[in-house]
Amino acid sequence: MPRIRRGIGWTLLCVAGAALLLHARVRAQPANANANANANANANANTNTNANANANTNTNVDAQRPRINHVLIISEDGLRADAVDSLHLHWHEILRKHGVWAAHAKTIRDASTLPAHASMLSGVLPKEHGLTWNNWRPHKGYIQTPTIFTDAQEHGLTTAFFTVKSKLRHIVPPGTVGTYQRPGYLCKKVAEEAAQYLTSEKPALAFVHFSDPDESGHSKGWMSKQQIHAIGDSDRCLGILYEALEKSGLIEDTLIIVSADHGGHNHVHSGAKLIDRAIPWIACGPGVREDYVLEDELSTMDTAATALYALGLPIRPEILGKPRLDIFEAPKADIK
Ligand SMILES: [Zn+2]
Repeated sequence: MPRIRRGIGWTLLCVAGAALLLHARVRAQPANANANANANANANANTNTNANANANTNTNVDAQRPRINHVLIISEDGLRADAVDSLHLHWHEILRKHGVWAAHAKTIRDASTLPAHASMLSGVLPKEHGLTWNNWRPHKGYIQTPTIFTDAQEHGLTTAFFTVKSKLRHIVPPGTVGTYQRPGYLCKKVAEEAAQYLTSEKPALAFVHFSDPDESGHSKGWMSKQQIHAIGDSDRCLGILYEALEKSGLIEDTLIIVSADHGGHNHVHSGAKLIDRAIPWIACGPGVREDYVLEDELSTMDTAATALYALGLPIRPEILGKPRLDIFEAPKADIK
């Protein structure tokens, strides 16, 4: 059982993580002489700017950053938050059990696929990133702001982008990711190919997009019998990725964020209703609290800032999202 195996491994990892944190704090506090020194300074500055109530502004935030070498963001297109809350989805429940669930996560007001994903992956609103339409229009070019992928690449990190929909290409100007792939339309194919790539190439930052819930939502209705079946498929696809990370050992130093671009009602998602904007948001990985619910509001733009923070990268001042330091366990180093 993954849950049992994970439970034991996770306990050991937490113990090891606490020891590492203690060590890092004792050893590295004054010099902070690691490759991320510049990134850390910026991350701290941004944390202070955003006045994140959860940040400890009197200590070196990066000294508390768990050892995360990979971030995997999985977006399940059109997956409503209440679907994950109510449908007892096996793999989502495993991640929630071993991670953090945001009870009030919202996408942007323009709750459509391209603008919302662009905000999730850039940390800024459509008026800044410029992707205000929702289909593939090659003549309109690409996103107007940097994304977490450009940030990662500028700092020498490897990246990968797996999507179902060609319109998401607008978020990825040529040369800004290590690999960009559209393996197929159903999530099984996407998950299998992404899993193979992630475990063989081990990119630092990866994005994987499933669209089964959205397709059936538009054709058969949100929370229809058919969409619930498609959500079950999406859950199994999440399991393909999770098991691949577990078998390869990557789970030990990977932060996984599971979210969506929007919800929906009837056959649409305009963003006018909260049910269109309420999205699932689960974080799971080294140093992340287990079985913990974040009660305050979380923006989809926080995904970008949290991913950058987790990788030790600078968070540019124009990013509106906040690094969600509250997903992490309180630093064990406070125990003198
Ligand atoms: Zn969508």
